[in-house]
Formats: sequence, structure tokens, C-alpha cells
Amino acid sequence: MTDFEIGRSGGKCHGCQQALPEESDFHSAIFESAAGFERRDFCGACWQGPPADSFCQFRTRLHTRQARQRVLVDDNVLLDFFQRLGEHGDDPVKRDFRFVLSLILLRKRLLKFDRTIRDSRGDAWQVRLVRDGSLHQVIDPQLDEARIQLLSSELGVILASHDSPLDATVAGDSSATESAHA
Ligand SMILES: [Zn+2]
Repeated sequence: MTDFEIGRSGGKCHGCQQALPEESDFHSAIFESAAGFERRDFCGACWQGPPADSFCQFRTRLHTRQARQRVLVDDNVLLDFFQRLGEHGDDPVKRDFRFVLSLILLRKRLLKFDRTIRDSRGDAWQVRLVRDGSLHQVIDPQLDEARIQLLSSELGVILASHDSPLDATVAGDSSATESAHA
């Protein structure tokens, strides 16, 4: 599980605008908009099944830890998002997100680095998905550190809340990330 902090503005159902229930499952869907990806949460009563125009969707739950609301996102959600992004390899925004997500997944040991492939498109990493052993290629978009940090925090916003950073930041170790949130 990856633990995300949920922002003050988050935690409301997109349908009825009521606060999402704590300690019970709710539904989330990710949509594409002109501005990028957008996450919407739905309580059980407002969830009518996966929205036809959503990019992907998942179940999750809020829990209270250290007096902050957080949302738990299953590792499989990250892996599914990684695979969905791979279906749109020509889109530069999705390519960049996929690269940053792969850094997080490598750090969580959900992906294993296999080798670098060099071709006319530039460098790509071949990685192995630990859960099923499948091989995937991740184009290396040669991002600088500032862009990686920006995309990493945007991923947290997309997957978890409206204004919170992703817990599994690329740089630094997890204990440092934890204490930064304490
Ligand atoms: Zn609702």
C-alpha cells in the first residue's frame, strides 16, 4: 500500500458533496481534462459503476493517522495506472508521468530494472513488473530534477487528493518523507 495524505479541500464526494466516510471504502476515478488528469471521489451511494469516460478507477479508503486524513492507494492501482499510461506512449505528458511513476515503482521494488535500450527514439528502460514478470519499456524523457519533483507531486494530487504531495517521493528515503509530514 502507498499512503497518501489528503488535503483540506479533499475528502468530499463529487456527487453529493458530503464528506467521504472514514474507515470505509469509497470509489475514485481519474479523468482526463484539458488541464491534465483529474481525480474525483464518490461515496457508495453516488457511485454508478465505472464512469464511461474515466481513464481508470479504483476503490480506496480514508483513514486517520497522526490526526491527518490520509488515503491509502493499493500498489496495484499504481501498477494499473503505469500500464494504462503505457498505452499512450506518443503523448508527451503521459510519457513523462509514466517515467516518474516508474521511478516510484522501482523504488518500491514493484518494478525491476532490466536493461537500457537505445534506438532512434532515444533511450528507453526495459523494466520487469514483479507481480507478473512481464517486460515493459519506459522511454527516458531526460527530465531534470525539478521537473521530476513537480510531476511526482502532481501524481500525488491525481491519485490521492487535491493539493498534497505524493508520499513516495522520488528523492530521499521514506523515513525522511515521513518526518516531513509529521
Ligand atoms: Zn455522494
